[in-house]
Amino acid sequence: MARRRSGARRLITVAIILGLAAVCAMIVHAFLPAPLYIPVGPRAEMSDGACMEYGPAAGNRGPLVFIDPGHGGPDPGVIGATSAGKTVEEKTETLAVALLLERRLAHDGFRVVLSRVRDTSVVRVTPAYLSGSLYSVAGEHADIEARIDCANAVRASLLLSIHFNGYSDPSVGGTATIYDDARPFTSQNLRLADIVQSSVMSAWARAGITIPDRGVTADSSLGSPTITAQAAAYGHILLLGPAAPGWLSHPTTMPGALSEPLFLADGPEATLADSALGRNLLAGAYAGAISRYEAGRRS
Ligand SMILES: [Zn+2]
Repeated sequence: MARRRSGARRLITVAIILGLAAVCAMIVHAFLPAPLYIPVGPRAEMSDGACMEYGPAAGNRGPLVFIDPGHGGPDPGVIGATSAGKTVEEKTETLAVALLLERRLAHDGFRVVLSRVRDTSVVRVTPAYLSGSLYSVAGEHADIEARIDCANAVRASLLLSIHFNGYSDPSVGGTATIYDDARPFTSQNLRLADIVQSSVMSAWARAGITIPDRGVTADSSLGSPTITAQAAAYGHILLLGPAAPGWLSHPTTMPGALSEPLFLADGPEATLADSALGRNLLAGAYAGAISRYEAGRRS
């Protein structure tokens, strides 16, 4: 009887200690400085959490670079699955890499503006931009234009857009980088794309990971299916491409590249994309590529 009572007392003591620990953890968490993102760019058209600079950037005197985690909010991008069958969404994977990359670039002395820092659209969504829970064609267009407006407004020296690929055949995989070949700064686009592609491939090789090298491709020769005849006639990736009357009035004003490092429809590649290893390898590869590109431009 006495032993049972002491056992119960011990249980109550443990419960009190655990309860106190939980309360302490909550209090400590409440006083930890939250990551401080400063809204920049043209705010009226932007969603909360879009077009943000991590601050304070005091002491960072390097170039200001624009990092664009693809998709977000109503636009999941490619939906794939890991080898274990876990569903992965492109918008989640791009953001995870972009936030790691931002920290690395800040550490290397760059100023960084992100198109978004949460699972949001970049454009402020209106009913006209939605079709059910997803973007309408107008919404998709407006969201990319908002990314362009952010990059231009902060006068970024370069733009890197992070995406993941998808294909109906799950055996298709590999790393690709896309650039636009119809801009006044096409040679810089190509140089950036080449450096990004080789940096990502080197990161895979150093880690002993075999991923097919799909190379660097101009967006004009992609020939991928587009949702409207107008988009097909344009023939470029809106984020990187030139102005076109009635379609895009204010194109990006700086060199840029779009990286598609892995296929989310391919189980092993989706597993890598969704892992801490894969995310850190990509963030390191992009940070190294941006440093190399900027160093080459200044020399
Ligand atoms: Zn994408």
